[in-house]
Amino acid sequence: MEEPEREQKIPEKLKIMLIGGSAALVFYIVFATNGTQNVYLHLIYIPIILSAYFWGIKGGLSVAILAGILAGPFMPLNISEGIRQSTGNWITRLIILGIVGSITGALFQKIEKLNNEIHRRGLISPLTGIYNINKLLGDLKKKIDKGDKFKIISIKLTNLVGVGKYVEHKFAETVIKELITELERGYGRDALYSFGEDEIIVIDRTGRGNLKTIENVLEKYSTAVQIENITFRVSLKVGVYEYEGGSETPVQVFNKARIAYEQGEEFESGIYYYLSQLEDRKREFFEISGSLLESISRDELYLVYQPKIDLSDNTISDVEALIRWDRGDRKPVAPDVFVKIAEDIGFIKELSKFVLRNATDQMVKWEKMGIEIGCSINITARELLDDDFNEWAKREIAGKKIDRSTIEIEITERVVSSGNKKILDILHAMRGNGYKVSIDDFGTGYNSLMTIGEIPFDFLKIDKYFIDRIGRREIRELVKNIINYAHGLNKEIVAEGVETEDELHVLRELECDRVQGYYYSKPLLPEEFETFYFEFLGAKG
Ligand code: C2E
Ligand code: MG
Ligand code: MG
Repeated sequence: MEEPEREQKIPEKLKIMLIGGSAALVFYIVFATNGTQNVYLHLIYIPIILSAYFWGIKGGLSVAILAGILAGPFMPLNISEGIRQSTGNWITRLIILGIVGSITGALFQKIEKLNNEIHRRGLISPLTGIYNINKLLGDLKKKIDKGDKFKIISIKLTNLVGVGKYVEHKFAETVIKELITELERGYGRDALYSFGEDEIIVIDRTGRGNLKTIENVLEKYSTAVQIENITFRVSLKVGVYEYEGGSETPVQVFNKARIAYEQGEEFESGIYYYLSQLEDRKREFFEISGSLLESISRDELYLVYQPKIDLSDNTISDVEALIRWDRGDRKPVAPDVFVKIAEDIGFIKELSKFVLRNATDQMVKWEKMGIEIGCSINITARELLDDDFNEWAKREIAGKKIDRSTIEIEITERVVSSGNKKILDILHAMRGNGYKVSIDDFGTGYNSLMTIGEIPFDFLKIDKYFIDRIGRREIRELVKNIINYAHGLNKEIVAEGVETEDELHVLRELECDRVQGYYYSKPLLPEEFETFYFEFLGAKG
C-alpha cells in the first residue's frame, strides 16, 4: 500500500539556506569572539538539530561532521594568540557532535513514523483493512481538481449485514475479504475503499472502459457460496457513475454511484448505471412521502366509488371504494403510486383506517337513503397480518351495525400467491365471519389454476389486461376457462376495466358474473354515485 503523502511545508531550498545561513552565522560569532575556546561554539547544535529535523539521521550526521571539521583543523582555539587546537580535542568534539546529530535525527525519524502511522490508520477501515471513506473523499477531490475523468463503482452486498448479525459474523467477514481479493486483481488494492460493513467502492483508474472484473465477480456469486458449513447466496448490487468532469463535490460523485444501485429489486444482483432521472425520482419520492404523512390531517384524501354491475339481473351489486388524493396545485399522484409509498414509509395503516372508516360511514348513510349495496375495500398484506388493525376494523364495523356480508375485501393475487400460510388462514377466518373476499388483479400474480383452489375467496377479479385483449381468441379461451373453473367451485367472476360494448358482449357470452369499468361508470363521488344509482334503477324499472 502506498505511503500516505505528508505535507511538505518548507521547500528544500529554504531548508538548505536556513542550515547554511545559521552555520555561517555561528562560525562568524565564534570567529568574532576569538575562537573555539568560548562557549559560543555550542551554538553549532542549532543547525545540526535543525538538519536532523529536516532530513533525519542523514541530515544530523552530515552537518555534525561538516561542523566538526570546520570547527576543528580550520578554526584555532584562540585567534588573537594564534593557538591551534589539539587533534585529540577536535576529533573528540567531532565524534560528540556526530553522536548528537545521529540521535536527534533518529528521534525525529521515529516521531515522523508514528505520525505517519496515525495518519494512515485514520484512512484505513479496521473492518476490511482497505482504505475508508475519508481517503476516498480525499482522492476524489484530487481527481476532480485535476480534471481527471474516471468511473466510480459502488458494490453493495445487500444481504450481508443480516447474515453477519443473525447467522455468523465470520461468514460475512470472509465474504467481504474474498470480494476484496477478487477486486484487487482487477483494479489494485489502492483503488478499493470500504464504506460501512457491506459496501466496497472502486475508483476505476484502469481506463479500460469495461466492467470485466465486476462481471466476473457477479458471475462467481450468482450461485450459492459455501463457507465452512454455511451455504448462502450473496446478493451484490453494483452502481456505476462515470464522472466526465464538471463542478461536482466528492460527496456528490460518491452518492451518484450509490443512487445508481438503488434501482432494481433490493436483493437482485446486477449492474446499474447512474441516470439523472433517478435523482429526480428520489427527490419526488421524498416530496410525496413527506406530504403524504400530512394528507389526512390536511383533509386531502377522499374516496370515490365505482359501481359493479351484476350481469345476471342487470343491477348494481356493489361498489369498489378507491382512494384519491387532492394535492391542490401540486403534481397529481395516482393511488397505486402513493399506496405503495404509504407502504414503504409505514403510513399504510393510517391510510387503510381512513378508507375503512369513510367507506363504512358512507354505507350507513346510503342505507338510510335506501341504497343497499355492498362495498369492497382494497387491503394490503400488511393490514391483513396486523392483529391490531383487524381488531380495530372489527370494532369499527360492529359499532356501525353493518351486515358483514356486504363488506368485501380485495386482496391482490400477488399477495395471496406468495404462499404465506398466515394470510390464507386469515382469509379463511374472515370468510368464516361472514366477510366476502375478492382476489384482485387476477392473472398478474404467479398463481396457476392448480393452486387457486387452495385460496379462500368469493370473487376472482380478472385483470384489465385480459379484458383489453378479450377480442383475441387465445385470451378469450383463457378467460372462458377461468370462468368455468370458478363456477365449478361455486365462485363468481368480476371483470375489471370493461370499457366497450364489444367487451361486455363477449363477457356476457362467457357468462361472466359481474363487470366493473368505464363502460358503465368511472369511480364517482358519493353524490354522483347516488344520481347514477337512482337513474340506473329508473332505467331498469
Ligand atoms: P384496483 O384495486 O385494481 O382498482 C381498479 C383500478 O382500475 C382503479 O384505478 C380504477 O379507477 C381503474 N379502472 C376501473 N375501470 C376502468 C376502466 O374501464 N378503464 C381504466 N383505464 N381504468 C379503470 P385507481 O383508482 O387508479 O386505483 C389503482 C390501484 O390503486 C387499485 O387497483 C388499487 O390497487 C390501489 N388502490 C386504490 N385505492 C386504494 C385503497 O383505498 N387502498 C389500497 N390499499 N389500495 C388502493
Ligand atoms: Mg381493487
Ligand atoms: Mg384490480
